[in-house]
Amino acid sequence: MEVIRNVYREDHEQFRTTVRRFLEKECVPHQEQWRADGMVDRETWLKAGREGLLCTALPEEYGGGGGDFGHAAIIAEEMAYAGCSISFGLHSDIVAPYIARLGTEEQKQRWLPKICLGETILAVAITEPGGGSDVKACRTTAVRDGDEWVINGSKTFISNGFVSDLVMVVCKTDAAAGAKGISLIMVETSSEGFRRGRKLQKVGMHSQDTAELFFDNVRVPVSNLLGEENRGFGYLMHDLAQERFIIAVAAATKLERMLEQTIGYVKDRKAFGQTVWEFQNTKFKLADIKAQSVALRTMVDYYLKTHMTRGLSGEEAAIAKLHATEVLWKGIDDMVQLHGGYGYMLEYPIARAFVDMRVARIYAGSNEVMREIISRKL
Ligand SMILES: Cc1cc2nc3c(=O)[nH]c(=O)nc-3n(C[C@H](O)[C@H](O)[C@H](O)COP(=O)(O)OP(=O)(O)OC[C@H]3O[C@@H](n4cnc5c(N)ncnc54)[C@H](O)[C@@H]3O)c2cc1C
Repeated sequence: MEVIRNVYREDHEQFRTTVRRFLEKECVPHQEQWRADGMVDRETWLKAGREGLLCTALPEEYGGGGGDFGHAAIIAEEMAYAGCSISFGLHSDIVAPYIARLGTEEQKQRWLPKICLGETILAVAITEPGGGSDVKACRTTAVRDGDEWVINGSKTFISNGFVSDLVMVVCKTDAAAGAKGISLIMVETSSEGFRRGRKLQKVGMHSQDTAELFFDNVRVPVSNLLGEENRGFGYLMHDLAQERFIIAVAAATKLERMLEQTIGYVKDRKAFGQTVWEFQNTKFKLADIKAQSVALRTMVDYYLKTHMTRGLSGEEAAIAKLHATEVLWKGIDDMVQLHGGYGYMLEYPIARAFVDMRVARIYAGSNEVMREIISRKL
């Protein structure tokens, strides 16, 4: 029994065909190399830009695809389906929308066309070595000096940290004001005083570069401020909803895909003269996962429709992210078990999912922070 999906239009499904073809041809064959390199090469970003796979939901006048969140969601689903971890979504649907929503006309003209082409790669730097969950406690400072911001501090765990050209940096512009003293400042990585630290060795997601960033008296023009000074915390809380929801979208597809592959595996594998599928334990485990997967798909599609109509609230996005990533994690763990030793071998998709997906309960706001957000409304 498949859930009938009615969130997408014809043009979305046509776009899915383009995305699937691109991933199969341009990404899947290179994954091993990218994992070894710890990053995706620039040429692939440029190809994705040329194919219209970046910034699909941004207005056409700035080089975007002129689509909607449905197109962004399709990319997230197809990445999960293909088992690719490339941060196109972070670039296109998490960071670029801040510029599109908060940027002045001059900023949009200056940055967006190259971002849409993949010539400028984006990152967002919120987390610091001293803490990530408590965003308002951020210690990186930006002090105004004439026509410039002078930025000092450090960030860590930054996706695209190594390849990025432009980073949205969360800074304290009023040290005494807590959440009301935070601003978002765009920093070109060519700026003097900007330094990348080591590429961090992660448990999974090996083809995504994750790095430390250091800011040592980095000077950028005052015109690099996004939105209004000291209103950054509110901007983040608004846009983090989409970031969290994209994780839920990917999780629903990942669970379906892993279930499909695990069913194939257990029906083939033999133990005690029968297939692993024939043990009642296997059938029951997979039946549980199927039920969870259908429930998750139903929830994600409901929220997908809601997000495309009016945008999800912080609470709704937290519910989606929390539920999706917990269900996914439990399902993956059970399916690793059903694979036996092969479930621990990275050449098997379930093992890759095991190392890649663990972080989904941690990043974009840990699931404890999601519970905190949800519980405020109880
Ligand atoms: C692969 C990867 C990619 C990432 N990419 C980025 C990126 O691009 N940009 C970026 O800025 N950050 C990024 N992060 C950072 C990520 O968002 C943080 O790791 C996450 O928000 C948690 O922050 P922390 O690691 O400092 O943990 P801490 O804040 O130190 O939390 C430690 C533990 O305490 C718990 N905790 C914290 N607060 C509460 C609370 N109020 N109630 C209950 N428990 C609590 C947490 O849930 C966690 O279990 C990335 C992380 C990883 C691993």
